[in-house]
Amino acid sequence: MTEATTVPLTLDGATGEGGGQILRTGLALSMVTGRPLHITRIRAGRPKPGLMRQHLACVQAAVSVCGGQAEGAELGSQTLRFTPGAVCAGEYRFQIATAGSCLLVLQTVLPALMLADGESKVELVGGTHNPMAPPFDFLERAFAPLVRRLGAGLELQLKRRGFFPAGGGEIVASITPARHPLAPVDVMERGPLLNGWAEALVPGLARTIAHRELETLGQRMGWTFEAGQLRQTAARQNEGPGNALITTLEYAHLTEVFCQLGERSLSAEQVAKRLSDEIRAYQRSTGALGPHLADQWMLPLALAVWQSGQAARYTCTEVTPHTATNAQTIALGLPVQVLITPVERAMQVEIRPAG
Ligand code: AMP
Repeated sequence: MTEATTVPLTLDGATGEGGGQILRTGLALSMVTGRPLHITRIRAGRPKPGLMRQHLACVQAAVSVCGGQAEGAELGSQTLRFTPGAVCAGEYRFQIATAGSCLLVLQTVLPALMLADGESKVELVGGTHNPMAPPFDFLERAFAPLVRRLGAGLELQLKRRGFFPAGGGEIVASITPARHPLAPVDVMERGPLLNGWAEALVPGLARTIAHRELETLGQRMGWTFEAGQLRQTAARQNEGPGNALITTLEYAHLTEVFCQLGERSLSAEQVAKRLSDEIRAYQRSTGALGPHLADQWMLPLALAVWQSGQAARYTCTEVTPHTATNAQTIALGLPVQVLITPVERAMQVEIRPAG
């Protein structure tokens, strides 16, 4: 191990957004660089700070894929010392208690497995459509195609949807590391819209909810059932109860996915209104990536910049606290600089090799 890899990565979990992302990005950075991670004030910005089951699952998954060691990996803990070992490609199965998000656990181990020395298959059981987490459809249609453009393989399979609080969803991720160093890509424009459509999922709930959501969304977006732009997606066995309204916008240069989850206190019409507001906000900007993709794309792209020594850029609609915080975390963990500047009706993120 070189001297550089033994300098611990020290993170303050209260920085910026102050959520679980600092922990997940920190674990990923620690695994890919070999630097031990020391993180304090974990999730200090959240109403219930410290490690929840969802975050413990991320730590445990990180320990598994690299044979690492973790001190402070307990419920409620606000401090963690993680010592990574050598990352091992292979077959893994992670069960996330209390319907924690499968996708957030996958994103914790993906960077390490993308750079490992062989293929991996990761099965995850838990939530696939959780509040405040990327839904499966977003990872499959928006995030994974961008990762593949860096040269790594990432195929996602949905076996069963799991909604909060019941959980029980299951996904499988097949990860193939790139044969060469990851190659950074610029994503500056969306290109023309090729296809836009919405689907409503209502496993275990009345089908009329889906119909009302789609009708309201259709009125706001000018989409119709007849044109195939409004779809009710059939439930699989043992799914639900739960409700998600999802829009997929396929552009020439990328696909964006927006999702709103139904809640007991929200009418179907309110769910549709929230989603159309989100789509409209995206359409008002010229940025290529929407607010969530912008924070999640930064780490895979930074790995490509680090490996190749070449800078890369993307535009996004806005810089959320998650995006700003991830920029700071990544610049502490990798020898890169992240520069964020406004451009016309959008923001630009540029990642450069440091020095
Ligand atoms: P944290 O709140 O720090 O645990 O981070 C939550 C992560 O989930 C961030 O990367 C968010 O961008 C992501 N996220 C939350 N809601 C969505 C959504 N509807 N679509 C995609 N990603 C999301």
